[in-house]
Order: sequence, then C-alpha cells, then structure tokens
Amino acid sequence: MLFKNYIWHPFTQEKTAPPCLKIVKGKGAYLYDERGKSYLDLISSWWTTTHGHTHPFIASAIAKQALELEHVIFAGVTHPKAIELIQKLRPFLSKELSKFFFSDNGSTSVEVAMKMAFQFWANKGNKKRNLFLSFEGGYHGDTLGAMSLGQSSGFFDCFKELLYNVKTIPYPETWINDINVEEKEAKTYKALSNYLERYGDKTAAFIIEPIIQGASGMRYARPAFLKKILKLVKKYDILIIFDEVMTGFGRTGTLFAYEQIEFIPDILCLSKGLTGGFLPLALTITKPFVYEAFLDDSFKKAFVHGHSYTANPLGCAAACASLELFEKEKTFVKIKDIEAFHKQHLLSLCAEIKEAVAPRISGDIAAFNISDTKTNYTNTICQKLKPIFLDNGLLLRPLGNTIYLIPPYCITSDELKISYDIIKKILNFY
Ligand SMILES: *Cc1c(COP(=O)(O)O)cnc(C)c1O
Repeated sequence: MLFKNYIWHPFTQEKTAPPCLKIVKGKGAYLYDERGKSYLDLISSWWTTTHGHTHPFIASAIAKQALELEHVIFAGVTHPKAIELIQKLRPFLSKELSKFFFSDNGSTSVEVAMKMAFQFWANKGNKKRNLFLSFEGGYHGDTLGAMSLGQSSGFFDCFKELLYNVKTIPYPETWINDINVEEKEAKTYKALSNYLERYGDKTAAFIIEPIIQGASGMRYARPAFLKKILKLVKKYDILIIFDEVMTGFGRTGTLFAYEQIEFIPDILCLSKGLTGGFLPLALTITKPFVYEAFLDDSFKKAFVHGHSYTANPLGCAAACASLELFEKEKTFVKIKDIEAFHKQHLLSLCAEIKEAVAPRISGDIAAFNISDTKTNYTNTICQKLKPIFLDNGLLLRPLGNTIYLIPPYCITSDELKISYDIIKKILNFY
C-alpha cells in the first residue's frame, strides 16, 4: 500500500478514490493483477494499445533498438528509425500529407498544430487570423493550448482565465436510428455559417476529432456531413486540423478517420496508437504549403519548438514494428470482425435493456448511454458500475453516462462475447 501514499494519480480525487488496482502483467487483450486475477482491457489502456499488450514483435523491436541507439538529440541530427518510420507511414497516408514533425504525446501534437497554425498566418504577414474554432465537447489534451481548444469539454472549468479564447459550434452527435440527426446537422450548419460570416477572415484554424469525439463520450458524427462543413470552412482559407490522436491507427475501421470523410486535413495529429501503445510518441503532419510558410533566410520564421525526447528512437522502432503488424496480422480483417460483432451484440443489448440507448459503432469502437442519469463525469450510476465491472474481470471506464468498448485488435470473438454477456448481466441487475 505504500505506493498509494507517494504517487499522485491522474484524473483522480486522491481523498476518496479506492486504492489503485495494481497491474503486474499484460498479455494480448488481458491485464493481470498481483494476485493473478485477469481483466479484459476493453479500453485499450486509455486508447493506446492496438495489437495487444506485450506483443513480442514490438517488444523485441524495442529491445533491439535499445542496444543500438536509445536516444539522440533531434535538432541538427537525424537517425535511421525516424527515417524508416516516415518511409513506412507514407504509403498509408495521402501523398499531400508529407511534412512530419515529431513530439512525444497527444497534447504536444495538438500544441504543435496550434502553434504552427498561428505562426503560419503570422509568417504570411496576416496578424488578423488569430482565432481558433472547434466543436462543443471536443477534447484535445491537457496542456494549456490543447485545453483552450477543448475548453467546452467541461474538464477545465477551473482554468478558464488561463485559456486562449476559442469559439465553438454545436456538435451534431448522432447514433443508430437517430430520427433527429438532420435537425442537429442543420443547427450546426447554421451556427457555422453565422460564425464564418463574422469571423471567417479572422480564423487561423478549425480543429476537429473526426467521426468520433473521444473524451466527451465517444460521440459520433456522420462523415458525409463533416465533409460538407469542412468544404464550407475551406472556402474561407481557414486551416483544417484533424486531431486523430484517438481515432488514428484503425480505431474507426480505416487506418485514419479522414479516409472515411474523404477530406484531407491541412494538419494531422497522431499519437496514442502510433507505437502500438508501447511508448509515448507523436506526429504533427502537414501539407507542403504549411511547411513552406516557415522557409525563410531569417530564423524568425522557423518553427521554434522541440521536446527533449522528440523522435525518440525506441518509440520510432515500436511504431515501425506496429505498422508492420497491420499487414502481417491482417489487422483490418480483425477490426471488421470486431465491428460486425459490436453491431450484433450492442444492438441486442440495447433491445434487451431499456435504459441502454443511443448505440453507436465505428470500427473498433462501440458505445451507448445509460438514459436515466444526468451527464456528470464524477457521480453517476456508470461510475458506480466501474468497480463492479472490475470485480467481474472487465476493465471499463465509463465517461459520464456513456459506457464504451474500444478493445485491442487481438481480442477474440469469445472474449468479446464474454464481455457483452457480463455487461448485460450487470446492467440487468443494477
Ligand atoms: C488523448 C487525446 C489527446 C491527448 O493525448 P495525450 O497523449 O493524453 O496528451 C488529444 N486529443 C485526443 C482526441 C485524445 O483522445
């Protein structure tokens, strides 16, 4: 118990939180505690793990790299694993996304995107474009810039005065058999049109989590509608940033969600699944025209940003191995199977339990709401269910009144069936 007294855990009220679960081992879709009890990791350990815990192919790639070159400064220096990673990633990306800036976590990838967008306009001599636009409920990380972009997510109320002023428009959240979807989309479209009329030429960038907003409750929006509004925003020359920190690397059924929207962002943020969930690493990827605005004889126009562990070679080695696994293990077939499984079992769960509503599914992700609770992150029935899920061997972490599954891609249909059966049993009981 000693560790409880010294370590301050994230997103935790240390006074009232129960002692931490101590996990000592991971394998595939499972985690094991110190007594040997197993838990199905249905949240991929905060949406990071892709191919499964301790995958030997990634583990050995890291070990090999550690004996070769563990780290080196990345300013004025490059190294083979960073180059290899970009060579491996490029065939998966649109050709236009061809400039790669490394950092080390999702928040920094967004911070970088935000600073790039701001300086892009400054370098062009346009000081007027200093506003950012985002969706209500968007979440982009916990550093100050990222918090500014996500301030309507409700996590950051205490910091309002520290945050940059960012405008938001309503998010057209929808689900399977939602009869009001068009009404919500029309409301978003109108709010956006009004915004653009007023602020279109003062806006530096529009940032979205494409298709699924993660932290605000796995909220789904229709790709075709997103495409429509992005085209409208582009008419005003506003930079488009896609934060695919969560949706990237297969979560929504394609390697990147932007493929389904059929819209290539000007700036793309990646992290979480980039290394298969082994090590912190991030990329902010841009189209050439963004990069070119920073080229000048003067250092003043350079992008003066960097982190100690930028492009860490161990992280790059893990990411290379993870990308190889997508082909080696036919991962997209697995994700299709998981999606089909979600469709069948989530819909039957919602049919059976009347409090389970608003089902939405996208690739690996399945989510539903519990209807008779208020959306409140800290105190709902869902939070009370968390320890009960754990007792029953499921690691789940409901968001407000949303229960969601985002399993590692190695999960089998037997393991998924067990998960749905247990969730159903618990929801029927409580
Ligand atoms: C998790 C997340 C972030 C922040 O990433 P960290 O690595 O936790 O800093 C940013 N954007 C989205 C969409 C996320 O889900």
